[in-house]
Amino acid sequence: MDHGRAAQRIMSVQYLGNNSWVDDFNHIIVNAHTSNQCKNDHCTLHNPSNHNMVGFPQRWRQDRHMMERMCPHGIGHPDPDDIAVNTTHGCDGCCIN
Ligand SMILES: [Zn+2]
Ligand SMILES: [Zn+2]
Repeated sequence: MDHGRAAQRIMSVQYLGNNSWVDDFNHIIVNAHTSNQCKNDHCTLHNPSNHNMVGFPQRWRQDRHMMERMCPHGIGHPDPDDIAVNTTHGCDGCCIN
């Protein structure tokens, strides 16, 4: 499981095949867009940017259709690479630094 990297583990969804992904909380995302349909250069699924929350687990919000990053305090922050317009959330500041 650990490949000997001392660096911070990058948390991310895993591709299951068939346009399906699983997030770090074992939520299944089905019918995702494909890598040639990304809306931006960076994509929360296919090409995450090097933002300050890449070490936080990803959590897909099926109810809001957006990706969150769960900080160590249990707060879900919108993934910076998500295209969601409404990023209202209860924030403890972890997505700002
Ligand atoms: Zn936040
Ligand atoms: Zn936090």
